Formats: sequence, structure tokens, C-alpha cells
Amino acid sequence: MRPEPSELQELVRDLHRQRSAWLPAGLGSRLDWGPPVQEPCTVVSCAALRGVREFNPGDFTITVAAGTPLVEVQEALGHQAQWLSVDAPWGDGEGGAAGSIGGLVARGLAGGYRQRYLGVRDQLIGIALMRADGVTARAGGKVVKNVAGYDLMRLFTGSWGSLGLITELTLRTLPQPPLRRSVCFQGGAAELAGLSRWLLGSSLSPERIDWWNSNLAAAAGLPPEPLLLIGLASVDAATLQEQVRCLQERCVLPARVLEAATTGTWLARARGGKAAAPPTDAVPTIPTTAPAWLLRLGVSPDRLETLMQDQALAGLAVDMAAGSGLGLAWTDPAEAQAAVTSSQVLALRSLCVQLGGHLTVLRQPPGASLPAWLDAPSRPLIEAIKRRFDPAGQLAPGRLPGVAQSLSTL
Ligand SMILES: Cc1cc2nc3c(=O)[nH]c(=O)nc-3n(C[C@H](O)[C@H](O)[C@H](O)COP(=O)(O)OP(=O)(O)OC[C@H]3O[C@@H](n4cnc5c(N)ncnc54)[C@H](O)[C@@H]3O)c2cc1C
Repeated sequence: MRPEPSELQELVRDLHRQRSAWLPAGLGSRLDWGPPVQEPCTVVSCAALRGVREFNPGDFTITVAAGTPLVEVQEALGHQAQWLSVDAPWGDGEGGAAGSIGGLVARGLAGGYRQRYLGVRDQLIGIALMRADGVTARAGGKVVKNVAGYDLMRLFTGSWGSLGLITELTLRTLPQPPLRRSVCFQGGAAELAGLSRWLLGSSLSPERIDWWNSNLAAAAGLPPEPLLLIGLASVDAATLQEQVRCLQERCVLPARVLEAATTGTWLARARGGKAAAPPTDAVPTIPTTAPAWLLRLGVSPDRLETLMQDQALAGLAVDMAAGSGLGLAWTDPAEAQAAVTSSQVLALRSLCVQLGGHLTVLRQPPGASLPAWLDAPSRPLIEAIKRRFDPAGQLAPGRLPGVAQSLSTL
């Protein structure tokens, strides 16, 4: 269902009176990713809640309706040389399926920019939402310094639609860095790990450090060797040049200095599983084809070197952020029948846990039925919060982040 803003509350109240199950949704681009919701379940889309409500360039804040596509938010900010410091999600962009800002917050996934700018939840300063019974609530505010009330912003980030429907968000914005360059090194894991360790402790403060495995490099049309891609930004060309020089001096491996658009093209090609071709600066085209396996990986950053060399990553393209130890792994979207098996993914999950992290299954091939996530140690607390927000268990039944099994007994 795609209610108009004026119809939304009545619809939610009706669903509550009937005790019907329903799923808050943005643009529906990635609704089926993660654990399946129990049927029957009405999908309530926020697509009609769209547009920028308030933009204060001087205060670096923007308030948007939850159904607004992320690309539209970035476009509005771009007119004032500002941006929201999050990555374009997997599969977004030209030819792909655009996602909403509400969906982005509800999934709570950040990419490599987290290294410098922190995660999605850290960009959020205010939220408006509707509970399962149709009651509306607000938390936070519209200014960066605000401390009053409960921090519902962090609670709803990564809630996967299980606690309520987000209707509006106020986010912190940043000035766009005027100059960006990427420096790419390819070689052995030990050299890349050494460089990444040094960088994290240095004063260079890169925007991001992405570590790709050899499969991802090959899919992007590069030599099949692990790769470290370092994103630098500055207001000043001489400073940027100095940073590049420092990196070249530091590492024995040959460096390639690139325009930011080139790395976008590489990633687009790698995600599309297209035939390898020399990298160009052409606009990336990301196909809508989804991979059979799409996994969210996390390990302690100082254990990344071990993860990247493990056999459990065979057959997967892997892109990890060296600063946070978080990233994604996927099979070639062109391969309908992925060679990667459920037992390999289980082994990878054990490895991630052993290395101080976790693995979330976002997509899996038909027939595989791995739990999207394992029980978090805080499961009792998560379930208690769920009961307070949604006592009748109407929202996203079967999907509660941090709880491996559905809650049938709420
Ligand atoms: C670098 C990066 C990588 C990412 N990779 C992935 C990925 O691999 N897989 C993935 O799923 N996401 C990923 N994301 C998050 C992605 O941005 C969102 O999943 C996407 O934007 C959702 O768009 P949508 O509007 O179509 O949401 P939908 O597909 O409609 O919904 C997505 C989820 O959000 C919930 N939801 C949506 N809108 C609301 C709302 N208004 N209130 C409450 N809950 C809501 C839904 O219940 C569902 O659980 C990534 C984000 C980043 C930054």
C-alpha cells in the first residue's frame, strides 16, 4: 500500500484495530533482503512521503520526508556544495534501484566513508515516527547540538522496520571536499596490511581505505591481486599532492593515482559481473541483477589481514573498509547458480565471530536457509524493547535484528 501522507495515520490505526501484520517500507528496492517476513503481511510504503522539508545550509542540517530517494537528498545538498557523508548503497545508481533515506537509516549500513565520517546513526539528529498503534512521536531536534529526551535516532537506525515507521529525518550535512584523489596499491596481504596499519595511525586522515580481495580486483578488470584503495580529500591541491607523495614513499608497491570517478567505474563493473575491460572514467552503470549471495561481514579491524587470506572467501568478491573492519562479500551477479555453498558461508560466519565480528546474510540463493543473523548477547533487551514499541508483534514479523529466530510468543 502506498498511502498519501494524509491517509497514513488512519491506515496504521486500521491495521492496529485488526491486529494485522505489516511491514514499513521505503521504495521497496531491497525489501526481500535479510530474513523473510512471515506472511500474510501488508507492506506500507513511504514512497508518497517525499521531499526536502527544510534545508539550513548555514547550520549544516537538512530535514527530509522518509520516502525521499537518497540521490535526491544528495542532489539538493549538492546545489550548496554540501553532502550527506554516506556511500551509495550496493545496487544504487544509474540502472540500479534507488533507495530512500528512511530505508537507508532503517538498515543502518554504512560503507567506507565511515572511516572518516562515522556511521549513518551519527549523521542523524532528529526523527519523526509512527508507532504500530498509529501514535506519532518525535525525538532529537533540528540543530546539531541537542541533548534532550531519549535517543530514538540510534534505536531506529538498523531497526529493519521492526519498531515503527520512520516518517521524517533530520540529518547533519557536511561541505563537499573540493578535491579528491584515490591511490591504489596492489600486492600481497602483508604489505597491504602494513600500509593500512600505518595509515590508520598516521596524520593523513584519509576519507576511506577499502581493501578488495583478488576476486573483486579481477571482476573490476584489474590484475587478480588484493588491492588497497585509499581515498584522500582536501581543500588544497598542494596538500593533496603531499599526501599522495607520503603514500608513495611509504609503500614499496607501485602506486596508481586515480580520479574518484575511476574507482566508481571499477566497483560498478565488479558488482555487475561484466567482462573485464580497461578502466575508464565513464559513468558507472549498476545493473539491477542481484547476486545469489550477498553478505555483510564485520571483524575487528586489526584482524582483517587474517580474514582476507582465508579460504572461506573463495568464490566471493570482497570489499572491506580497513578502518572499521566492515564490508560486503558477494557472488558474481551473472552466476545464477553460485558455487559458494551454505556450509562455506557457515564457516565464514564462524571465522568472523572468531575474529571479533559477525556475518549478516542479506541475500541467499533459493533453497539455502541460513539465519540472517545469530542471537546477539543482548537478545533479551532487544525483545523487551520490541514488546514496548510493538506489543501486538505486528511489525515485520519474523525479522528482528539480533534475534536469530522469529518471535512467535510475543
Ligand atoms: C555502503 C552501503 C551498502 C549497503 N548495502 C546494503 C545491502 O547490501 N543490502 C541492504 O539491504 N541494504 C544495504 N544498504 C542500505 C540501503 O541503503 C537500504 O537498504 C536502501 O536504501 C533501502 O531502500 P528502500 O527505500 O527501497 O527500502 P526498502 O527496500 O523498502 O526497505 C528496506 C528496509 O528498511 C525498512 N524501512 C524502509 N523504510 C522504512 C521507514 N520509513 N520506516 C521504518 N522502516 C523502514 C524496511 O522494513 C526494510 O527492512 C547499504 C547502505 C550503504 C550505505
